[in-house]
Amino acid sequence: MTLRVAVTGASGRMGQAVARAVIADNNAELTAFAARPGSGLSGTNIQSLLGSDAPSLTITETLCVDAVDVVIDFTLPESTLANATLCADAGVPIVIGTTGFSDDQLSALDASLASVASCRAANFSTGVNLAYRLLAIAADVMGSDADIEIHEAHHKHKIDAPSGTALAMGQAITDAMGTSLSDVARYDRSAVREAREPGSIGFSVTRAGDIVGEHTVMFGTEGERLEITHKASSRNAFATGALRAAHFLPGKSAGNYSMADVLGLS
Ligand code: NAD
Repeated sequence: MTLRVAVTGASGRMGQAVARAVIADNNAELTAFAARPGSGLSGTNIQSLLGSDAPSLTITETLCVDAVDVVIDFTLPESTLANATLCADAGVPIVIGTTGFSDDQLSALDASLASVASCRAANFSTGVNLAYRLLAIAADVMGSDADIEIHEAHHKHKIDAPSGTALAMGQAITDAMGTSLSDVARYDRSAVREAREPGSIGFSVTRAGDIVGEHTVMFGTEGERLEITHKASSRNAFATGALRAAHFLPGKSAGNYSMADVLGLS
């Protein structure tokens, strides 16, 4: 059955990437595309934004959840909270890609979504979510003998460092090893002159040009080195992962599902 999808963030990079992914999916239909209050895009036909492959559909100022099976939201925390309430009231599942929630906002989000199925991930790329599992296996097998280093590279506009994905990779490793990331993470080695601390996990960061997102985790031992690398070359990686989650949610009981659930890795 064709999945009827509503997408938010019509003026945003991810909103448009998700809308394009939905349009390209033979088993999904873009049935609503929302901008933001006061947006100049409201009232325009999405074909003028996304081309003639897009269905003839008017961009709305706010999210409309009538006759939709699932919502995909990549906007800002305040807007996602409002959209989550709309979805919960209508009993519509929601996929949330927005990042940057405060702890209070996360609690409010969890409370408002208690009655519907939802999936929230800081990184919807299929490869990254598979990498978390591969890292857990590597950490389990060779983590205690290895020096573990995580390097990430992103475009020059990114303001947070290290990336949330790099931290999640570190977390996958420490979870597997039964240690605490906050205890073993080392973000800056310039202040102390000493050899590498056994058991620490070093983070390093590159910011340059238009790099979409690259992460390498190295497990270095005496005599060999294992490296697990993921490279995203376009936002399509996140959009298609979010759409995969959108196909997964309808019919599921209420609860917050992870991408590991979506990919059958949990
Ligand atoms: P962007 O700045 O290009 O777009 C933000 C969108 O939010 C715009 O369309 C804007 O109109 C909309 N918006 C802002 N305020 C709004 C409001 N009050 N009501 C309704 N809409 C509002 O950003 P982006 O690159 O598209 O990223 C969007 C979010 O997705 C960010 O939080 C980003 O960190 C996150 N992101 C997540 C993943 C992932 O895999 N989970 C990947 C990429 C980006």
